[in-house]
Amino acid sequence: MSQNYIVLDRDGVINVDLFDYVLENETFEFEEGSIDAIATLTKHNFKIIIATNQTCINLELISRQGIEEINNYWIDVIKKNNGDVLHVEVCPHEKSENCDCRKPKTGLLKSAEKKLNISLKNCFFVGDKLSDLECAVSHGCKPILVRTGYGTITEAAEFPSETKVFDNLKTAVQWIVN
Ligand SMILES: [Mg+2]
Ligand SMILES: [Zn+2]
Repeated sequence: MSQNYIVLDRDGVINVDLFDYVLENETFEFEEGSIDAIATLTKHNFKIIIATNQTCINLELISRQGIEEINNYWIDVIKKNNGDVLHVEVCPHEKSENCDCRKPKTGLLKSAEKKLNISLKNCFFVGDKLSDLECAVSHGCKPILVRTGYGTITEAAEFPSETKVFDNLKTAVQWIVN
């Protein structure tokens, strides 16, 4: 394997899912251990791709630029703690728009592959919702469920049998790098 890429969902994985939209930096609260987990991935040469649904953009609760500013904010915190994020893909659409990128569809992954000229097949994909796991499986990624965010709700229902389940991003990453 020449290069290890890993796909991470954002809300409920990296930051606490508010069960509402994160519309300002002040409400972006890191999940316990997630900053260290990303630093560990970076140390082990993983390149991190974020794939996130942000319907709040097309609901006009925030601009696309506003979402970018929030992402720049937290990625800056990650960088100050020896982690790195290579690329962020955002779906702005509402479900009713039936786009090709809203997870569980795989357009965000395809877009990242095209822009970066990489393949995400066989990469780990960490998320907290069924839509993350289904997106991972559809694209040929290895699904990992974390019990943060919607994770315990997801775990209580049907999900792809090949999914590995961990308490949070930190314990998932410990398993990944070992
Ligand atoms: Mg999530
Ligand atoms: Zn979309």
